[in-house]
Amino acid sequence: MVSGSEIVTRIAPSPTGYMHIGTARTALFNWLFARGRGGRFLLRVEDTDRARSTPEATEAIFAGMRWLGLDWDGEAVSQFDRAPRHAEVAREMLAGGHAYKCFSTQEEIQAFRDAAKAEGRSTLFLSPWRDVPEAEHPDVPFAIRLKAPRDGETVIEDAVQGRVTFRNDQLDDMVLLRSDGTPTYMLAVVVDDHDMGVTHVIRGDDHLSNAARQAQILHAMGWPLPVYAHIPLIHGPDGKKLSKRHGALGVMEYAAMGYPAAAMRNYLARLGWSHGDDELFTDAEAREWFDLSGIGRAPARLDLKKLDHVSGWHIGRTEDAALVAAVQEFLGLTGADPLTEAQEKRLETAMYCLKERAKTLPDLLEKGHFALVSRPIAPDAKAAEALTDVSRGILSELTAQLQNVSWTRDALEGSLTAAAEARGLKFGQLAAPLRAALAGRAATPSVYDMMLVLGAEESLARLEDAARP
Ligand code: GLU
Repeated sequence: MVSGSEIVTRIAPSPTGYMHIGTARTALFNWLFARGRGGRFLLRVEDTDRARSTPEATEAIFAGMRWLGLDWDGEAVSQFDRAPRHAEVAREMLAGGHAYKCFSTQEEIQAFRDAAKAEGRSTLFLSPWRDVPEAEHPDVPFAIRLKAPRDGETVIEDAVQGRVTFRNDQLDDMVLLRSDGTPTYMLAVVVDDHDMGVTHVIRGDDHLSNAARQAQILHAMGWPLPVYAHIPLIHGPDGKKLSKRHGALGVMEYAAMGYPAAAMRNYLARLGWSHGDDELFTDAEAREWFDLSGIGRAPARLDLKKLDHVSGWHIGRTEDAALVAAVQEFLGLTGADPLTEAQEKRLETAMYCLKERAKTLPDLLEKGHFALVSRPIAPDAKAAEALTDVSRGILSELTAQLQNVSWTRDALEGSLTAAAEARGLKFGQLAAPLRAALAGRAATPSVYDMMLVLGAEESLARLEDAARP
């Protein structure tokens, strides 16, 4: 139960087998809103669809939340487990005269709808049992329906959409409890949000009309309405509703592409929310800045180029050791072998010259290849082109010349520049075989950075290896 004015938000995903990027964004908004205000952020799994709600599907939600770093308070709530409580509230509404027993069968309701359709009348089902006194009730199973207001309007003051009105004569008396005793989704959400003390419901605007129905239940129970904020769904780059053809939909697919979680949080936060012109920010800034008033009314578009840019920024400003940890997590996610301790160490040493330009974690690994491989270095096809008889000869001479050079950037620069000049070569011509020798690649960080990271002994051994035909 809530005390005082504490803010409580929640994410209420239905297990679908993976965590959709839209759900991740909604979770993030709720998390930022609560965390930035000393409130609580809760997780409720809407697992009433028993066929879909397998343990694996539920675990996929937890995995997505954990990877994204969206920690929730307390235990995750299972909606299914709360069915007895939902039924209790339905009976309470019945006892209070806010609901009634409806004995209409599915067949009768369908027949009514078919006839209404054929005659061009409204198909809104108005139960004939709404005002039938108890004494005239048959002794057969019944559904419990809300005795919804027939006149007037239900108003939602939405923090994003503004004031939204629904005519009550357009809403039917919704079923709260089915004749088999199971609660409906609409009832379950209201009861759960109330019992969990949720003060702010931030969710996709596909739930806006549900809000009107949920408000009717809240009014009937005399419970306060939460603040609603219905956020526009994410669209593809073409402005159409996001679908598979636009790219990855699951948040873990982005993890597997090597975007750091911090970058994903930054990127997702900007998908529909803005704080002035700020595009790149930390978690602390996002928590401080996030507000419902910054959520736009137009659907945000997915833009992977922008994600790359955001990701590069985060990688560039993350601590070296934390980046190595993120790389290890990434390798684990993709099923690759983890780095050995020696590789971790060397990658961390190299990080300063990798992270400024890397966009993703695999990008870091590619740039850091020289630090991860061990002798003998097998050059790839492109690098091998730089290892001719002539260049091997040069590498051999260089190996000898560099034996006594003090291993600093200045000294190395002096020696290699002089060596190039003495042979009438441009530095680039010398650099190509050096890259091949040191990294086995044609594109690498600077030769000096590689030599400094590897140290004198390892660097010279690699040059010697490559000099040998
Ligand atoms: N379970 C719903 C969904 O996954 C969310 C319901 C809500 O946020 O009220 O879309």
